[in-house]
Amino acid sequence: MIRLTDVRIDADSEELLLGAVRSGRLSQGPLVERLEREFAPLCGCEHVIAVSNGTVALVAALQALGVGAGDEVLTSPFTFVATVNAAIQLGASVRFADIRDDDFGLDPGSVRARISAKTQVVIAVHLYGQPCDLAGVQSAAQQVGAALVEDAAQAHGACYGGRRAGSFGALATFSLYATKNLMAGEGGLITTNDGELARKARLIRNQGMASPYEYEIVGSNYRLTELQAAIAVPQVGRLEAANERRRANADRLTAGLVGLPGVVSPRELPGRRHVWHQYTVRITEDARLDRDVLRMKLAERGVETGVFYPRAIYDYPLYRDHPLVAVEPMPTAERVAREVVSLPVHPYLEAADVDRITSAMRDLLDA
Ligand SMILES: *Cc1c(COP(=O)(O)O)cnc(C)c1O
Repeated sequence: MIRLTDVRIDADSEELLLGAVRSGRLSQGPLVERLEREFAPLCGCEHVIAVSNGTVALVAALQALGVGAGDEVLTSPFTFVATVNAAIQLGASVRFADIRDDDFGLDPGSVRARISAKTQVVIAVHLYGQPCDLAGVQSAAQQVGAALVEDAAQAHGACYGGRRAGSFGALATFSLYATKNLMAGEGGLITTNDGELARKARLIRNQGMASPYEYEIVGSNYRLTELQAAIAVPQVGRLEAANERRRANADRLTAGLVGLPGVVSPRELPGRRHVWHQYTVRITEDARLDRDVLRMKLAERGVETGVFYPRAIYDYPLYRDHPLVAVEPMPTAERVAREVVSLPVHPYLEAADVDRITSAMRDLLDA
């Protein structure tokens, strides 16, 4: 079976991990600091705050901006549910804008149509590893004085206009979940170039304490452990090379799928650097097989696939009926949720694996 993800821990991580275990220093310490310092150039930010996962990274980023009950957060309905849960957890209401079907991120036109003076924060999600239309989304947010937060959980190392994803928002967040491009098993990073927001995020991470038992704000425990940092630190230096392997696999997939009816391959848009967290094609009505049948037949041929994500967030009864969630139809998000399939693109794939994937696709879909 060619798996959608392949998680490997290298020998240098094992060694750092064993060192951490033997040091007796298990909670946030020097390895967490090293992770923060070494990731900074990869997100173009002066300040990096490591936390226990990407979801609480979002919660802390929103909290640092003062988001709470009565505030409104505008985001994409085509994202991992954590983006929305973080806002709801703070008591904020959530409104959605539609997406584009080429980068799967927020459509600036739809953002402009739905944003209002009530909108405190716009969360831009860089889905699958490609930054969304940051210039368009940022200017829409600026028009109403809303802050921009980037959910860069899937976009470690990506670029937009030559600048790193993570450096555009007032704050940005990354996930270090086991299958992300940079991972610690569980973990997250908050990034910012604003010293005051960085200070707040650090306070929130550690019970609001500026110094031991001096409480400045109501915080929480979002600390990362040294064990998790030990796993992640050696990968930081290899991130660019791993992302390049993903890119080579993506290019080979695209070449192998060219001209296949009903298959729209993902494209790196001009001025952007895609880091291929997922290689996601759209299966349109012109395809010989329905998306879900195709997935079943690919699995029979030893190719694992994924659907990220099968429905727009507001399309689940839980969120549809939630008092904090505004439900408006988003035609592009709904269509794309029916069309997307992610094919394996991870850095451990060999060219022969990629060729097996594209041959299986051609066998099943060539007219
Ligand atoms: C993974 C992910 C998150 C949440 O990160 P966790 O570390 O799993 O909490 C948030 N947003 C997006 C888009 C993600 O892919």
